[in-house]
Amino acid sequence: MAKKTKKLKIKIQPLGYVNKPAVEFLRSTLSNIFGDVEVLKPLPHNEFCYDRFRRKYISTCLLKSFDVDDVTLFVTEHDLFADMMNFVFGEAELNGKRAIISLYRLKPEFYGSKDDDLFFQRVLKEAVHELGHVLGLVHCKNPKCVMHFSNSILDTDFKEWRYCDDCMKKLSKLGMEVNFSKI
Ligand SMILES: [Zn+2]
Ligand SMILES: [Zn+2]
Repeated sequence: MAKKTKKLKIKIQPLGYVNKPAVEFLRSTLSNIFGDVEVLKPLPHNEFCYDRFRRKYISTCLLKSFDVDDVTLFVTEHDLFADMMNFVFGEAELNGKRAIISLYRLKPEFYGSKDDDLFFQRVLKEAVHELGHVLGLVHCKNPKCVMHFSNSILDTDFKEWRYCDDCMKKLSKLGMEVNFSKI
């Protein structure tokens, strides 16, 4: 008998203006990997989450400041920071519903170059990483696994955009259906 698996339903919630091709890329790739993906109309950032001194949003604050029904991936072009970390690429609720990624430090322009393919790959990796936390995955020791913690963009560029075999096993134990064969 086939094992019952759950497909994830994901909503992408842009905050403020977000690069349209990146959002469309996320919609199509994430729907191939996870299942149903819907892009919502942009919402403004909650300004009480803005730190004027650091000129960044507090990711945890933004994450908690929106009510959600389904798994929701917030996407912002602004820089984020959290707790003791000077900046974060994203944050998510472990086994929760909310995840957020910032495109700010994923843009090759931030490091003085231009490469749309590289940008899109980074956006996908960070999205798959944060959604992995939502599904219950913690950080993985395998530096090639998308669940490896990215201290800098070099870690992000080094890792692949998929979960390693160990992480895939954990997901299948949790009954989650994830499919990397369509992209
Ligand atoms: Zn993480
Ligand atoms: Zn892994």
